[in-house]
Amino acid sequence: MSCYGFINKLVHRSKKMSPQEVEIISNYKLLLDEKSKELLKKDEYIIQLEKKLEDKELMIKYLQNEIDKFRQVVKPITQKIITKQITLGDDVWNVKNGTQNNQEEQAQEPSRIKREGISAEPVNLSKTDLHITKIPKTSRSRELIKAAILDNDFMKNLEPTQIREIVDCMYPEEYKAGSLIIREGDVGSTVYVLEEGRVEVSREEKFLSTLTPGKVLGELAILYNCQRTATIKAATDCKLWAIERQCFQTIMMRTGLIRQAEYTDFLKSVPIFKDLPEETLIKISDVLDECHYVNGDYIIRQGNRGDTFFIISKGKVNVTIKKKDSSEEKYIRTLTKGDFFGEKALHGDDLRTANIIVDDPEGVTCLVIDRDTYLQLISNLDEVRTRYIDDVDDRRRLNEEFSHVRLEDLKILTTLGVGGFGRVELVQISGQPNKSFALKQMKKSQIVETRQQQHIMSEKEIMGEANCDFIVKLFKTFKDAKYLYMLMESCLGGELWTVLRDKGFFDDNTTRFYTACVVQAFDYLHSRNIIYRDLKPENLLLDSKGYVKLVDFGFAKKLQPGRKTWTFCGTPEYVAPEVILNRGHDISADYWSLGVLMFELLTGTPPFNGSDPMKTYNVILKGIDAIDFPKNITRNATALIKKLCRDNPAERLGYQKGGISDIQKHKWFDGFNWEGLVNRTLDPPIMPKIRNVTDSSNFDPYPPDEGGLPPDDLTGWDCNF
Ligand code: AMP
Repeated sequence: MSCYGFINKLVHRSKKMSPQEVEIISNYKLLLDEKSKELLKKDEYIIQLEKKLEDKELMIKYLQNEIDKFRQVVKPITQKIITKQITLGDDVWNVKNGTQNNQEEQAQEPSRIKREGISAEPVNLSKTDLHITKIPKTSRSRELIKAAILDNDFMKNLEPTQIREIVDCMYPEEYKAGSLIIREGDVGSTVYVLEEGRVEVSREEKFLSTLTPGKVLGELAILYNCQRTATIKAATDCKLWAIERQCFQTIMMRTGLIRQAEYTDFLKSVPIFKDLPEETLIKISDVLDECHYVNGDYIIRQGNRGDTFFIISKGKVNVTIKKKDSSEEKYIRTLTKGDFFGEKALHGDDLRTANIIVDDPEGVTCLVIDRDTYLQLISNLDEVRTRYIDDVDDRRRLNEEFSHVRLEDLKILTTLGVGGFGRVELVQISGQPNKSFALKQMKKSQIVETRQQQHIMSEKEIMGEANCDFIVKLFKTFKDAKYLYMLMESCLGGELWTVLRDKGFFDDNTTRFYTACVVQAFDYLHSRNIIYRDLKPENLLLDSKGYVKLVDFGFAKKLQPGRKTWTFCGTPEYVAPEVILNRGHDISADYWSLGVLMFELLTGTPPFNGSDPMKTYNVILKGIDAIDFPKNITRNATALIKKLCRDNPAERLGYQKGGISDIQKHKWFDGFNWEGLVNRTLDPPIMPKIRNVTDSSNFDPYPPDEGGLPPDDLTGWDCNF
């Protein structure tokens, strides 16, 4: 009962009360009236304050955007700071002196700053040169290295065989007290484990911490060449174990390839698989689960139903059958490594007709696949992926229109953007005032220095041939002693990144439209087995109709059917776990990044975010289920993001038997006008304002390049540009 109710009841009963009691109660009533008036006033005041707060929040957002815009304009000054945030490496380097807090505060910053892609030099190891050199060491040292790896947030995620091989391959190094082990600013490719002694960590000559044995030092260098972000000095004489990135890469590829070869060999010996193409066998081998059973276990029991198929990879089992009217199990035969059972289950016949019992004191390991996974992979993959017939002539005709254009005919109007190797300029061809183009200039010396030649050649080839409305067209390339040039169609609506920055985040409909454009671009690329590897709003440009096109194919690569690639490529927030863990990746890595893009467009921030790349990678390795989804992401969008960002690449939507149409058919896209998108009749959510063909106002302004001319490339790189 409320207070009012109670007092009213008392008032009601007041006839039976004394006059004093009646007076007391009416006084209470008056008091209560006053109090409730006061409360009402306070409520009104709270509403007013909430309104004010809302206005202030809007103001903060507006000012934040203004700051971001300003930041882009003064990029050369801030660039240093940005690079620093991006290259911060090892966990252990920033734990002391409160620096942790500062970095946590900065953690929100990078999402508002254009992010650069990172790539290791392409790995070209074949199965034959996967040799590793093992260095003998005591069991105490082995234990110490292993414990250090398992104590490290990133390296503990590697597979036990990989950790064992890293321990095998580490070589000893000794440093005298006072000598430098790692120098801030140097480019590094070695990772260390401290075995004896003490080291001091400092940044910008400020002491950060002291480290003792059993720690991994500088592990970001194991993924790609990176600038060391702290100095590590031996405080006493030190003994360390070291490994180079090249060796780490070999171990990663070896374990992956050896396992793949072993599994596909197993599969080939199974009659139902033997006629399948190698590509499909590799796919099946990728999804095989390893299961362990102990002696005496019934792996399969006669009469039960089951949908799994097993291949024995280690150990021995007995097959027994129980006759109808007998309780005794009759021994039929023994199966060992390479033998298989339960294959009928894959095609629907799921009644088990025998028992399979482990008969091995050391237990048995089986490779297992269930019917759903098998059927998802096995059917018409080829049909789905080779729907397109390329009209090569059409594209060639387009490029021929530019065959007469010379570099001297191009007039630079302004800078549109800055990429990893140089600027992208808005240009016009003399005599063609009604058209404009984008000219990407790349410094040859820098390409050679960072060993990105192969990536650049691949970019030229893929963009030069792509004939898709959702991919920026490359018409012609040029070269001179200093630069390589790419003449492309210009997209004057600006970067989606800029639109997102100015708006903060997009609603469901807007996100759906842009995601659909990317899906169309991926459909084109993936059906030709081309992996893109650098999806992010910075690489999505708006054309004059407000449609989005994919640009920057520096990391794109055409894959051999069924094969993977191993080079670390991408932008930290967008890379898939298998890229970080060096397990080999393929087009399924693009579906992961599509999920990340959806999340970023819907919220303004990517889901996996840390104050430095290594922290970001560790968040990625924890998986999408560890991420909080804000309320403004709808249930359907959440479901799609989670289906794209599956840890297991084979389980990602888009990578299964339905191919990319599984994404197009997802309920988040229900009612979406795909045909209108492809025919370009669908209204875009945002129509960019472009006054004329030379209007660059949708791009942030860039100050002139003050770096001077780059040196000529003297390496003799004979690029076929
Ligand atoms: P990239 O080096 O390819 O990543 O390009 C760097 C930046 O230049 C992009 O993020 C865009 O802002 C701009 N840009 C690149 N290509 C084009 C284009 N075809 N049209 C308009 N702007 C472009």
